[in-house]
Amino acid sequence: MPSRSGILYLISGPSGSGKTTLCRRLASEQQAEYAISCTTRAPREGESHGVDYYFLSIHEFKSKIEKGEFLEFAEVHGNYYGTLLSEVVTKLESGKDVVMDIDVQGAALVRNSKNPSIKLALVDLFIMPPTVAELRKRLTGRGTDSDEVIELRMNNSLEEMAYKDQYSYLLCSGTHEEDYLQFLALLQSQRLMTSRLDVKTLDVG
Ligand code: 5GP
Repeated sequence: MPSRSGILYLISGPSGSGKTTLCRRLASEQQAEYAISCTTRAPREGESHGVDYYFLSIHEFKSKIEKGEFLEFAEVHGNYYGTLLSEVVTKLESGKDVVMDIDVQGAALVRNSKNPSIKLALVDLFIMPPTVAELRKRLTGRGTDSDEVIELRMNNSLEEMAYKDQYSYLLCSGTHEEDYLQFLALLQSQRLMTSRLDVKTLDVG
């Protein structure tokens, strides 16, 4: 088997597009490592520190900004979210694929990164919900957010969709299973890119 460098699979899409579920499934099937983000938002029921997010106070988050620990960070839905360099770069350099669930602002920052490991590794995908009505249904059906938060997320989601053309790949969401098959297929195809493969001489034995 040829060795290859890791892929940074960067996933954006509105809240309710199903992207977090897809990213988590990819990681649970050991296809990629999930980059756990930092956030200042409060944990939802069932979420835990170090698994879903690193839940930080604003003070802790700002201190990490000052120390230059973030690959990127952004304010999303009134809270800070950011990815630590330590969650990404070492894994990529050891040939592991990393999947990131990130908003459109963070994605733009990663795309503009000067870090050569990141540039070589990047594959960006935007996930579109099937319809606006379905998006609202998914946001409401989660049952974890207040009406005010749902409205804010709904408005932000519509704005986020305007950025879809900045991504190399677009997945229009259907069923969970259909989405996952396409999501995995894209990652698998990227693993075959010649620029990522280190093929030595042919074994003619
Ligand atoms: P949620 O609060 O629903 O978990 O996430 C809200 C939004 O924050 C989602 O669009 C998600 O993609 C984004 N997000 C999660 N982690 C990060 C991150 O590390 N950086 C950035 N820029 N956005 C993130």
